[in-house]
Amino acid sequence: MKKTLLFISFIIIFILSLTPFIFKNNHTTTKNNNQNYDALLKSNNFNLSLKDEYFKTYDTLKNDLNNNYNITTLTLNKINYPNFLSAYNDTKQYLIINNIPLVNRIYGLDKDFIPSNLVSVENVDYIKRDNEIMLLNKEALNAYQQLYNVAKTKNINLTIFSAYRSYEKQATLWGESLDPNNKFLALPGHSEHQTGLAIDVSTREIGLTNHLFNTKVFQFLKQNAHKFGFIIRYPENKSNITGYFQEAWHLRYVGDIAEEIYNSNLCLEEYLYYNYEIPIFL
Ligand SMILES: [Zn+2]
Repeated sequence: MKKTLLFISFIIIFILSLTPFIFKNNHTTTKNNNQNYDALLKSNNFNLSLKDEYFKTYDTLKNDLNNNYNITTLTLNKINYPNFLSAYNDTKQYLIINNIPLVNRIYGLDKDFIPSNLVSVENVDYIKRDNEIMLLNKEALNAYQQLYNVAKTKNINLTIFSAYRSYEKQATLWGESLDPNNKFLALPGHSEHQTGLAIDVSTREIGLTNHLFNTKVFQFLKQNAHKFGFIIRYPENKSNITGYFQEAWHLRYVGDIAEEIYNSNLCLEEYLYYNYEIPIFL
């Protein structure tokens, strides 16, 4: 009996002696969770009244996604802008994320927006039109000239059909369009061509037709454009986000991130949404 009591006492003392560790462990766990949320809490766009939603979404994403994406950014964007990736929101103006202008059916440019670094297209083949000088962003042109030269070595003679397009020019095109729900043509202010960073590229033989998809020219663009800072802007299966049917010829210059976008299989909207905190807009 005495022995049993002694044994029970030992057990009780043993359990009590563990208590601080149990508490300590609990404490550490809580602290780790807070540390996980630290980046969220420090974010400019963190809205305290949505705190619980952020934390819940963060935990879900953490379990569902591998580490290819910035989970903090994605959490914030998902809660702050749940309809961002829908191509059919009300139109808004000006969205530049990390120096990358996003122009689509929702986000547009002002009537007076003219890019500052436009230069005349030269040293490459392009379609000359009366009373029109073809213009393109300087950096984009330099990059395209390299792409053009590499294509030449593969007996592909690329031609630019369209580059910078002013608001007025886009308005004229829209006026000429018979279909108001045209899924190829953008409203004035909502054409990427107004940024000076977009080009329509094909060969003179093929032109801007869907036949381009079935040619080695498209295969070449698909496999090489990103090496020179361009992305195929309207890829397959992304129409619900980009707002445009798949387009083979429309290239958008994005610079260094082209490689990452290419590897991620995301369209530009998704890439920005997954990787950058969307700035607060009205
Ligand atoms: Zn285009």
